[in-house]
Amino acid sequence: MQGGARLIDGNAIGATMRAELAGEIAALKKKSIVPGLAVILVGDNPASQVYVRMKGKACDEAGLYHETIKLPKDTTEADLMSLLERLNANPKIHGILVQLPLPKLIDSNRALHRIDPRKDVDGFHPENVGKVAVGDPTGFRPATPYGVQQLLIRTGVETKGAHAVVVGRSNIVGRPMVALLLQDGPGGNATVTVCHSRTRSIELYTRQADILIVAIGKPEFVTGDMVKPGAVVIDVGVNRVDDPTRKQGYRLVGDVKFQEAKQVAAAITPVPGGVGPMTITMLLYNTVQAARQWANP
Ligand code: NAP
Repeated sequence: MQGGARLIDGNAIGATMRAELAGEIAALKKKSIVPGLAVILVGDNPASQVYVRMKGKACDEAGLYHETIKLPKDTTEADLMSLLERLNANPKIHGILVQLPLPKLIDSNRALHRIDPRKDVDGFHPENVGKVAVGDPTGFRPATPYGVQQLLIRTGVETKGAHAVVVGRSNIVGRPMVALLLQDGPGGNATVTVCHSRTRSIELYTRQADILIVAIGKPEFVTGDMVKPGAVVIDVGVNRVDDPTRKQGYRLVGDVKFQEAKQVAAAITPVPGGVGPMTITMLLYNTVQAARQWANP
């Protein structure tokens, strides 16, 4: 194929999905339910500040109630826990999200496990991890792999029977991605291989992928020769690399060498503008799901 991969446009698909969600938000409002999201930011990580701002803006645009709670970086675990308890009990809040990474003083797992599973819109509580693993639709699917699955469904990529190779096994992306691809339903029924940092000769696996999903946080790690001709490539990575030609001194690149991979692949997500906008969209979906389930337990 001549330089010809189709671009999978996460901005456009995300916008369509947010427009579709507006109907459900309006229906809930008629019943006096306004889905509400609380986002907690501890410390001053610059990337986290940007993500938190984007989440608040997305809530405003969608007509959701939201609170962004900023805490200093020396916040104790006990203080965070009591905030989580207050939010668990707050009827205006249906979804609670703790922006990661947390400062080292706080045990992330303990904090995430303190969120009421019914409000755990990130889907990191073991109750939701378990529900997603067994395909229970009341579980919250972590927003990034949920968004990847929607990109595949909405661009007509057939996952059923396809060989999907997931590179990365984090609790946030890789592992839940595997669970979703294995489900018996749309965007599922794939044959799944998972690779990670101890995988030997990783290119042997990536080259067999009909669908290659990469989430490792290593700039441009996957080169064109690691991609099977005609594959669908989903690049989850977001990495800052120095670029003195840019005003801010850096540019964003994915985990895939885009210019090479797009010569080989049939379809590919750009970075930015691929998976990122879908993550925020699916967070809105999960918040609306939480409000719906709260109203109809
Ligand atoms: P993470 O928690 O650091 O996990 C990275 C995973 O990649 C680990 O499983 C690690 O293996 C594996 N890995 C690291 N180096 C590798 C290598 N050389 N070969 C094969 N596997 C390797 O990262 P994450 O949270 O999953 O995020 C991954 C990337 O996605 C990051 O760039 C992040 O910024 C991006 N991200 C984007 C979005 C979005 O909305 N667009 C959302 C979340 C994350 P081990 O387990 O063996 O260490």
